[in-house]
Amino acid sequence: MVLDLVQVRRRLLAERDEIERRRAELRAEFAGVVAAASDVATDDEHDPEGATIAYERSKTAALISQATDHLADVERALRRLDDGRYEICETCGATIAESRLEARPVARTCITCAQRDPAGRRGLYASS
Ligand SMILES: [Zn+2]
Repeated sequence: MVLDLVQVRRRLLAERDEIERRRAELRAEFAGVVAAASDVATDDEHDPEGATIAYERSKTAALISQATDHLADVERALRRLDDGRYEICETCGATIAESRLEARPVARTCITCAQRDPAGRRGLYASS
């Protein structure tokens, strides 16, 4: 085992902090958009910006849910580290290639399983 798990953990923790910070920003942004939308509603119901606001709101909501998914991936990777299963494929039990974990620290299946089961690609958005 050559993979530096201490380093991996540090990287995952930093990533988790970053995602949490980003998600807090998005939530603040979302609250701002919602507040702006209610201002528009009281000022002028027929404001043409209404559609833009709805779009902004759904876009921000999508980003928040993406961040939440990513956070779950990172937390799961941290749990796998704690359990000593970090390098073990969750599907077939094989050792996940070090290069794969370096490229994608939240990977939980080996490359063979990832390729065989496209449904297992959920959560791969970060690198795709
Ligand atoms: Zn596998």
